[in-house]
This record gives sequence, structure tokens and C-alpha cells, in this order.
Amino acid sequence: MLIVMQQGADADQIDHVCRVVRELGLTPHPIPGRTRTAVGITGNVAPVDPSGLAALPGVLDVIRVTKPFKLTNREMKPEDTVITVGGAIIGGPDIVVIAGPCSVESREATIQIARELKARGANLLRGGAYKPRTSPYTFQGLGPEALRMLAEARSESGLGIVSEAVSTDDVAEVEQQVDIIQIGARNMQNAALLRRVGRSRRPVLLKRGMAATLEEFLLAAEYVMSEGNRQVILCERGIRTFSDHSRFTLDLSIVPELKRLTHLPIIVDPSHAAGRRDLVIPLARAAIAVGADGVMVEVHPDPAKALSDGAQALTLAMFDELMAELRLIVPAVRRGPVAPR
Ligand code: PEP
Ligand code: MN
Repeated sequence: MLIVMQQGADADQIDHVCRVVRELGLTPHPIPGRTRTAVGITGNVAPVDPSGLAALPGVLDVIRVTKPFKLTNREMKPEDTVITVGGAIIGGPDIVVIAGPCSVESREATIQIARELKARGANLLRGGAYKPRTSPYTFQGLGPEALRMLAEARSESGLGIVSEAVSTDDVAEVEQQVDIIQIGARNMQNAALLRRVGRSRRPVLLKRGMAATLEEFLLAAEYVMSEGNRQVILCERGIRTFSDHSRFTLDLSIVPELKRLTHLPIIVDPSHAAGRRDLVIPLARAAIAVGADGVMVEVHPDPAKALSDGAQALTLAMFDELMAELRLIVPAVRRGPVAPR
């Protein structure tokens, strides 16, 4: 259910509506818009009788939201959500490029790659401190030490940091050091973790589970938003299909469908989808062409020596090529910079 307030409704009227909603045992979520405020309602197991709410002072209309996802729904908030974070603006007119190694491996290498990527026009630095690896016997990340290296790389390069929290235990530390908390594909349905980052002040980059439907993906975002955190960035990173020529199958058709259904920004990670560096640039081009707000790619100065995901890491020379390609695509889709060199 969505209560649309009149254009001139004042704060007292909005508060009053929220109070009445709470008295019904439901949760109100005020959503300020460009011209008017709306109040989303969640928590109802059966349809709510709209007549009492429609009669409240300042209320223009009460609309039933038919889909199970509510706060993520464009019906609730028609305007795009634009997230300003770590010196970048995600979901606005400009395409955002997030780049960096799969894992943080050493202090020097992290600072060095941050500088190199900044100079080449990247907007945010990625790097895993906690790694959700498929095998327990492979490199699991340097943990808190890596977070400190990322923080140092931020002050050296000026790039904001994206890094993953794999468990509720590490969220406090991660949120202290990074600009955006990543939730990985393997954790997309970890309700406790989603709720915990929902109580964080940091924006959340939520990756699609490798077997998640669109609705499950948006309901995962709903977990985060229902705890109060409205700053969610969706990330398509490939799903598992019968196709076995690449690591996963990049589901680009979800991008325009998500754009239609949700106001949240959407970025595409072609690296994990492809699993092979030679596919990353063409898939990134396609991602921007299909309407994504940005891409996230893995880059390593010497992929052969990477401690994780070396096969899909771009070299710096390839990252240059990627940026040059995106600079051609961006104006064609009427979007703004992937900064000129
Ligand atoms: C990653 O971004 O390094 C990662 C582990 O991604 P995913 O959760 O999509 O596999
Ligand atoms: Mn990786």
C-alpha cells in the first residue's frame, strides 16, 4: 500500500499518517519525492482497508502495490534513486566504473592499483578483504588488515572503496572502513546479513544470487531497505545456466526489466559472469548499451600472480581499452562521462 500525500502536505500531516499506520500494526516508510511525499506501508499480511487512510488530512490518494516488493518498487517511488558516495554519483546521468582486484593482496599493490585506476578514470576502487570462496582451501582474504590497506589506498588515490562483508560479524569493521558495503552473490539470501547492512549508514552494493529470480533479487534488496537503508545498488553478475562456455551467463535482459520495475541503480559485473578476461570488454560494452548505470570489473597488474580470480582479471592495458570503448558507447546511450583521459 502506498499513501500519496498532497503537494502541500506539511510535516505534521505526514507524521499523523505515520502514526495512524503504526496504530494499525503496520510500518510506515516516508518517501520524499520531488513534488510530494509518499508513505509506503509494509507489514500487512492481508490487504489493508484504504478508506480510513484516504480520509486523513493531507492525503491525496491510497494506492495498492500489487507486487511483493514494495520499497524497491517504482510504483512507490517513480524517480530514480541517485546515490552520492565516495566521490561518485551512482544512478545519475553519468556512467560509473568500479574497478580493482578481486582480493586485496598487499599494501603496496593496493595503493599502486588505486593510483593507476584513478589516473585512468575509474570512479571507485573495489577489493575484497573478506572473500566468500567456493572452496575453504583457497585464499580467504586478509580481513581487517586488508580493510586498513583499502582505507590507505583511498586517502592516497581519492577513490571511494567498495568491499564485501561476508557475515554479520564483520559488518561493523567493514562499514567503518569502506564507502560501499558489498553483499556477494552467495549471500544474497542471508537474511540476517541483509538486515544488518540495512541498519548501516553505508550504501549497499547487492549482487544477484547465481540462481535468483528477479523477484528474489528485489526481495533481497527489500530486506535491506525495510531496515531503513534506502541506498541500495543492484548488481547483475551472471547466473547459472546450462551454458558452459563461460563461468556464468550474464543476464543482461534483467537490466531494462529492473529499470522498469525499480527505482534503484543497477550496475553490471561482467568479470564474474565471464570468468575469462577476453569476454569482459565486450560484455561491459553491452551492459552500458542495455542501460546499466555502470560496470564493476576486476583488474590486476599481473593477473597470473593474482591470489583469486586471475583468469578474469583485466590487465591495466586492457582496462585502458575498456575505458576507451565505454567512451564511445556512453554518448550513444545519452549518458555522461567515463572521464576523458
Ligand atoms: C566479488 O565481487 O569478488 C565476488 C566474490 O563476487 P560474487 O559474489 O558475484 O561471486
Ligand atoms: Mn572475484
